[in-house]
Amino acid sequence: MSPENNKICKINTAQCPICKDFVSGIHYGVQTCESCKSFFKRAISFDKSSTFQCLQIHNKGKCRLSPFRRNCKFCRFHKCIKAGMLPNLVRIKKERGGRAAIYVKTKLF
Ligand SMILES: [Zn+2]
Ligand SMILES: [Zn+2]
Repeated sequence: MSPENNKICKINTAQCPICKDFVSGIHYGVQTCESCKSFFKRAISFDKSSTFQCLQIHNKGKCRLSPFRRNCKFCRFHKCIKAGMLPNLVRIKKERGGRAAIYVKTKLF
């Protein structure tokens, strides 16, 4: 094992399960990037998810998302859900109104 390899392993390798960007923390129950966090939040808060339509008419739900291509809201939202993001956690924050964020204790292990 070269020290070089070691180094690479220690870098935060966590990838956003939705778009493969770097993870910024645990958001709504899942480790995601900052961008997907706010996307999910917006989608839930404004109840937009039902209006999303896949960009690929003939291949619905199959868009490949990457840090540079996150333009299909339909696929993105579904990936969020599939990854285990919890809409409830967004709603809770909304009900309590505004800034007072509730820190949900996620039981890891
Ligand atoms: Zn992401
Ligand atoms: Zn799509």
